Amino acid sequence: MSAVGFIGLGLMGRPMAANLLRAGHEVTVFNRSRPAVDELAAQGARPAGSPAEAAAGAEVVITMLPDTPDVEAVVGELLEAAAPGTLLVDMSTIAPGAARELARRARERGLAMLDAPVSGGDVGAREATLSIMVGGAAEDLERARPVLEALGTTITHVGDAGAGQVVKACNQIVVALIFQAVSEALVLGSKAGVEPAKILDVLGGGMAANRIMEMRRRNFLEHDFTPGFKTRLHAKDLAIVLDTAREHAVPLPATAVVAQALTALQSRGRGDEDDSALLALAEELAQHRI
Ligand code: NAD
Repeated sequence: MSAVGFIGLGLMGRPMAANLLRAGHEVTVFNRSRPAVDELAAQGARPAGSPAEAAAGAEVVITMLPDTPDVEAVVGELLEAAAPGTLLVDMSTIAPGAARELARRARERGLAMLDAPVSGGDVGAREATLSIMVGGAAEDLERARPVLEALGTTITHVGDAGAGQVVKACNQIVVALIFQAVSEALVLGSKAGVEPAKILDVLGGGMAANRIMEMRRRNFLEHDFTPGFKTRLHAKDLAIVLDTAREHAVPLPATAVVAQALTALQSRGRGDEDDSALLALAEELAQHRI
């Protein structure tokens, strides 16, 4: 069992830290707002008042923060505070270039760093069934593996530093386009007179079957857009995707359209709603509520 520092106790981080405790790891937690820290402390975690305190005595320090600047700020503190040999594992979704640069700075300070973003959503975080894509040195992944095994079922080494974030960017293209596709299908079918639940039943039994439609079925049908995955985070992810695409001269026309739809949700005050709120936008465009 390892001593683990865990920083960022949001929708994902809270259940992930709880799973580490359940697996028998010694976990010290820090979050910007205090209630999440207290909640984990009640489950047996040691509360910390800063990132440095969360890293004190830890062999592995995990970050699960919203965006690139958040990770740069917190890891910046960790690079100063963590003992040599500490392994930093960033599981947030951030820009691949930033992940590479942080890993380089970590090496300079005698620390190791992996980028290990996840897919599987809040459900995967709760059930410890996340798919974890890891960039960095293979031997560092082997050190982290016993800890990561408490969080996910698929742990894949995909390349050097930053490669985990590249694969996560690919993942976010597919997830965004599926949410948009299901939303458009439901609005067309419903406005043309078919019951939405029947559309999902039929699509789920054929080539169009997908996990998003399964996991968010009730959310789509009942217009319950409780996150889940917040649209502002997905808007952030598609900005990362499109920046990375520009760097590599890869046109992503369909992704660009869904990125605009996610921006439209931000301007409608729906940034803290789940991705399934893309349905609300498709409904608004068609002037039809399913
Ligand atoms: P969230 O907004 O629910 O949680 C983020 C947490 O980080 C909050 O508790 C916030 O207080 C804390 N925080 C922010 N800045 C901080 C700082 N400087 N120091 C300490 N704590 C700080 O976000 P989430 O849904 O848990 O997502 C976290 C990351 O995981 C994001 O990068 C997201 O893109 C990614 N992700 C989310 C999902 C999902 O389904 N929610 C799935 C896969 C990946």
